Amino acid sequence: MARVSYPYPYEAKVSQTLFDRASLVTPGGVNSPVRAFRAVGGTPRFMVSGTGPYLTDADGREYVDLVCSWGPMILGHAHPAVVEAIQAAVARGTSFGTPGEGEVALAEEITARIEPVEQVRLVSSGTEATMSAIRLARGFTGRSKVVKFAGCYHGHVDALLAAAGSGLATFALPDTPGVTGAQAGDTIVLPYNDLEAVRAAFAAHPGEIACVITEAAPGNMGVVTPAEGFNQGLADLCRQNGALYISDEVMTGFRTSRAGWYGVDGVRPDLMTFGKVMGGGFPAAAFGGRADVMAHLAPAGPVYQAGTLSGNPVATAAGLAQLRLLDDAAYAAVDAVSERIQGLVADALAKEGVAHRVQTASNMFSVFFTADPVRNYDEAKQQESFRFNAFFHSMLSQGVYLPPSAFESWFVSTAHDDAAVERIAAALPAAARAAAQATPEASA
Ligand code: PLP
Repeated sequence: MARVSYPYPYEAKVSQTLFDRASLVTPGGVNSPVRAFRAVGGTPRFMVSGTGPYLTDADGREYVDLVCSWGPMILGHAHPAVVEAIQAAVARGTSFGTPGEGEVALAEEITARIEPVEQVRLVSSGTEATMSAIRLARGFTGRSKVVKFAGCYHGHVDALLAAAGSGLATFALPDTPGVTGAQAGDTIVLPYNDLEAVRAAFAAHPGEIACVITEAAPGNMGVVTPAEGFNQGLADLCRQNGALYISDEVMTGFRTSRAGWYGVDGVRPDLMTFGKVMGGGFPAAAFGGRADVMAHLAPAGPVYQAGTLSGNPVATAAGLAQLRLLDDAAYAAVDAVSERIQGLVADALAKEGVAHRVQTASNMFSVFFTADPVRNYDEAKQQESFRFNAFFHSMLSQGVYLPPSAFESWFVSTAHDDAAVERIAAALPAAARAAAQATPEASA
């Protein structure tokens, strides 16, 4: 893909030098692809510190952060109480490879918040959580096939990297070299928000589908809210057909409410996956749900699952400290600031006549550059993402850090105060103008 050059006279010399160094020793210069700015072009910013709603890059420039580490930093960066809990935990030792009280306390906090989670197992990443949940669903049901939805991301689990496919119950082709046909062959990819497609898949594969996995409210194709009744319909179809309903709340969990998206729509899954917020910025994630299903997990049951750093004492201390600060007032604050920013973005784009839709899942939101509602991945891809690229670079040049892709959720925190919102508001008119003037060729 050709690199985009934008007419914004900002410099990122130190970041560029670091990126050049990184590119020699790390594929593409980054440890997770979206960080490389490939979708939007330009130099990825290497960050050196974060405080509250702000990040500072290696060139000494400060940004209002609307990525929040892709969700986890819901209290902002370096929250004093979280930092204190982490420092105290580190001082006691960083890993024991034994059980510890912190893991119990974190599991108790999760099960207390989310009623359908009767038991929970801690892991280190969202990918591990979904991978393990699927293995458990297959082990529990004795079935092989997994239904997922196009545009839903569940981490880089081999079987779930298949998002291709068309028509009803099409067997997925692997999306990436390295995933074999066999690994993806038991994955059925369906269009999001289409219950008829799910019904047809169950009819076409009686007794074969172990589980349906879905993002509780998708944020990985931009934010696409589940249609009224969609999640309940999935739960019902799973129950009728002896399959498990897995709600992936890695992104929405403990963010969209105290009890995540379950706290918003109340649809009861058999299994759920968590990550991001529950780790307080450390690698901690989890899967859990019905006690009779979880009882199949080793050492209680035969389905193997393990991890050297699972339930790590520093990660659990960080997660617990963060969750304990997330009371109703904190969620009300995040919801309110999210709404304010959504309104400002919509107003600025409307003023410039830029077709757009702000779509939300509670305080998660994203901006699609299209006039039409976006209900699934195909519709998401029809937006004019070249406008987002111009918008992104204008905001970046003015000190606002957005997700570097039109297909991602934006995230805010309790730390996004009036000063941070004012900086965003000040940057928006020029960014909206840039979006209005953008052409597909400029970002080709
Ligand atoms: N599931 C969802 C819904 C996610 O958004 C993500 C990551 O963004 C994952 C799973 C994978 O989590 P991780 O990146 O911690 O492996």
